[in-house]
Amino acid sequence: VFQLSVPLNFLGSVYRELRQSLLDMETLFNLQKVNVSIAEQPNAPPLHLTKGGQIRFDNVTFGYYPDRPILRNLSVTIPAGRKVAVVGPSGCGKSTLLRLLFRSYDVQSGRIFIDDQDIRSVSVDSLRRAIGVVPQDTPLFNDTVEHNIRYGNMAATTEQVHEAARRAHVHDKIISWPHGYDTKVGERGLMISGGEKQRLAVSRVILKDPPLLFFDEATSALDTHTEQALMGNINEILRDKARTSVFVAHRLRTIWDADLIIVLSEGSVVETGTHWELMERGGLYKELWTAQEMGMRNGGVLEVGWKVE
Ligand code: ATP
Repeated sequence: VFQLSVPLNFLGSVYRELRQSLLDMETLFNLQKVNVSIAEQPNAPPLHLTKGGQIRFDNVTFGYYPDRPILRNLSVTIPAGRKVAVVGPSGCGKSTLLRLLFRSYDVQSGRIFIDDQDIRSVSVDSLRRAIGVVPQDTPLFNDTVEHNIRYGNMAATTEQVHEAARRAHVHDKIISWPHGYDTKVGERGLMISGGEKQRLAVSRVILKDPPLLFFDEATSALDTHTEQALMGNINEILRDKARTSVFVAHRLRTIWDADLIIVLSEGSVVETGTHWELMERGGLYKELWTAQEMGMRNGGVLEVGWKVE
């Protein structure tokens, strides 16, 4: 892009726009952390969701550097069609788990199965088509708001785009802007807030409507009221369509109703269960929950550190 930029500068605003969209594509790619080193087997068959999207980690070890494992011998099953949460201290490998599922990286040892198919044995394209991700920081194109949502499903009608935005609680906001859905993201100083970006990302994924949905701190920038309303809508969609969903969350109040909560610490699963089972158990989950509730009562910050002895 740097080499291209010199001649393109001579060619006026049309090309500047083109160059900007190239830059955006690059940003999108980088943000998704797509690793070129993952290899597809020749003639890899497409993923077939024969069991409704059951995910199984079997003795998975992975580190960004081979001598520094982030996930260690991790084994866990995420049931099909259920809402599952992954919680644990900062840096314990929650987002890494999602990146491995999306095949941004491959495991060092062990295997990951979706409906009994090793994800390395199926085509990367079919795997990624089956997955919708709302990442921590959503990449947006320097294009209209409508295009940014439609990116989830290029064949969607305008009404479907609007409906997705309604369900993501951002439609009213969009139509309050002077250019509505034609508003260019990132143009003329229009600042899209972190919370609006997150809701555009949720709209995009609602429109894509994939069988597997991963949310990585997807509502962290929203106020409690908006977050609850949005989570209510997301839960409704997940329930109606029996989608397998995995939520990485710091604020336990957003995931306490999950069918299964997986507690990670230092790259391994230390507890699993429902909220009530984990509270009963009186382990790390209860410790974090109690600390967050105390933080709430004190009007303090929710992000309470979690010390593991
Ligand atoms: P948080 O709750 O703070 O988001 P997390 O549990 O999601 O944390 P990860 O993002 O999975 O944690 O990161 C796990 C560890 O891997 C951290 O120590 C982090 O610094 C490291 N890490 C993450 N991404 C990379 C990368 N691309 N290259 C090298 N190390 C990385």
